[in-house]
Amino acid sequence: MAQSVQELKVRVEQADLWPESTNDDHCDNCRFYMEIKEGIGYCAHRDVDMVVGAPWWCKLWAANRETVAAREAG
Ligand code: SF4
Repeated sequence: MAQSVQELKVRVEQADLWPESTNDDHCDNCRFYMEIKEGIGYCAHRDVDMVVGAPWWCKLWAANRETVAAREAG
């Protein structure tokens, strides 16, 4: 379904979405990120539900499996 700019603005604000991260947590190592092409993905989190960039970040971030494994391995 088409998304209005106003709807997207509300989601961006509520998720506290930013075009860059201040640490090693970013969209392309988040469990909700589904890569479309290099550097561009779709966020499948129901509260975001939009195209996002690999280096972006929001407060809903949660580690994907690879990130959990890498961080547990130290
Ligand atoms: S939940 Fe947030 S950090 Fe994770 S992919 Fe979506 S926008 Fe990016």
